[in-house]
Amino acid sequence: MDLGLSERHALVCAASKGLGAACAAQLAAEGAKLTICARNVEQLERTAAQIREQTGVEVLAVQADLTKADQRERLLEAAREGLGPIEMLVLNGGGPPPGTATQFTAEEYARAANQLLTANADLALQCVPQMRERGWGRIVAITSIAVKQPVPNLALSNAGRAGLTGFLKSLAAEVAAQGITVNAVCPGVFFTDRIRQLAALAPDAQYQDVDNNTLERLVGGCPSGRMGRPDELAALVAFLCSTRASYITGASISVDGGSHRGLL
Ligand code: NAP
Repeated sequence: MDLGLSERHALVCAASKGLGAACAAQLAAEGAKLTICARNVEQLERTAAQIREQTGVEVLAVQADLTKADQRERLLEAAREGLGPIEMLVLNGGGPPPGTATQFTAEEYARAANQLLTANADLALQCVPQMRERGWGRIVAITSIAVKQPVPNLALSNAGRAGLTGFLKSLAAEVAAQGITVNAVCPGVFFTDRIRQLAALAPDAQYQDVDNNTLERLVGGCPSGRMGRPDELAALVAFLCSTRASYITGASISVDGGSHRGLL
């Protein structure tokens, strides 16, 4: 299936590793040119070089901390100047620290809201005018299965991502008639550094190193009985960015090996 992504410009946020990097690589494999960002510039440049080498597409790497308004502004400017109008925006970022609802202060909730809601809303709001002008655009956010079923001990994530989901749904309805779709993908458990940290595994631990007790704790009850591979999420993100997904908007789609047991 031709996804119609060739030569289109995608900004993939927080894409030096993990789920963001997998989405960037998949979009590049479909011929899209990319702007990617992260804070650690060495890892970011390594990922950019790898994608260029594997796909031959243009990849602009911009160091940016997405939680800071001035750095988001600089990122968007660099992307536009470097590769032209942003046609596809993949929203992603770091995850907040684990903990229960009563353990955090109001300040910590505000920080999580900035990271998960404000930063992403700001990026989307700044990209919508250029998408409207062209009558075409794709916004896909990587949220979490937490928006369907709050995850124990991830209270900040549960709260902040619910807010983002409300924003995305509102935005989707407002821009649908202008050729812009807005969707979210909701990962269950994918084997990335984030999971290595949450499971307190060594930073270089491989999937094969994960013992049965840890696996049971992470994906116990998951019908697939395993964690996801980042490319399994990236395939859906690329499809949602494509010309083929023109009538899908306002959706939050689980990619969780069947973990979420609700009907929707
Ligand atoms: P990861 O492997 O740790 O990668 C995180 C990426 O985000 C890195 O490229 C990191 O680079 C970048 N990043 C973090 N904070 C940033 C900031 N302030 N500004 C710019 N870039 C930033 O994590 P992941 O597993 O891919 O997770 C990505 C998102 O999905 C997180 O929000 C996570 O909570 C969520 N999620 C993950 C899973 C899962 O199973 N993995 C499940 C549900 C939800 P730098 O550190 O260099 O900035």
